[in-house]
Amino acid sequence: MILTTNTTIAIQCSQCGELEFHALSLFAFSQRERKKLLCGCGLELMSVTSRNRQQFNVTYACAYCGDTHYLRLNRRAIWGKEVFPLVCPAVEASVGYIGPKQKVTQACHEREKSIGELAVELGYEEEFENPEVMLRVLEHLHFLAKQGDLGCACGNHQLSFELLPDHIELYCECCEAVGVIYADCADNVRQIEGIDSMYLEENKTWLINSPLRGQHISKTNEEETKWR
Ligand SMILES: [Zn+2]
Ligand SMILES: [Zn+2]
Ligand SMILES: [Zn+2]
Repeated sequence: MILTTNTTIAIQCSQCGELEFHALSLFAFSQRERKKLLCGCGLELMSVTSRNRQQFNVTYACAYCGDTHYLRLNRRAIWGKEVFPLVCPAVEASVGYIGPKQKVTQACHEREKSIGELAVELGYEEEFENPEVMLRVLEHLHFLAKQGDLGCACGNHQLSFELLPDHIELYCECCEAVGVIYADCADNVRQIEGIDSMYLEENKTWLINSPLRGQHISKTNEEETKWR
């Protein structure tokens, strides 16, 4: 029998909004200390205490309602085989998860997806020509930003975004750089998802992809195949 002594905690910070990952060892509770998990921004995300390593008192700051929630969990809920959701009772959604690393990562991925679906439900539908494409492009930009692969050649990494019905404009506030990303057809998603790193050119406007060009290309390809 394998006894799990390490668990992963993922929780969204109620101060800066980042999704934070922490490892927690059962052996951290050898002395009756309070185990605190801090976010990179300094906020205390969670604290765990135990007297006997069987019952654990967990409190966490909730990114949804702003309150602190309290749970009393047994060892198997924290260091078990399944994912335990950190729920906000006010909105009935999870601000994070505890469990095996792989399952926690998977649960976070699904949570992100449902946030995307929520955005569509909340009426992005009417604002964008193709909301699904817009969301997928935004997701990729978010991913690039997280990896540190989004910025401006002038050295600025904090670009401003403006969302328009069929495109996104990226601005550098340190220089005059502008980037335009079309997001109105599925080909736009493929173009953008193929980009691993995106740096605006200092003081220049860059059309990062082209509108609806993909449709034209695929038509030409079909004709070529016919002729061969
Ligand atoms: Zn934070
Ligand atoms: Zn809450
Ligand atoms: Zn710049």
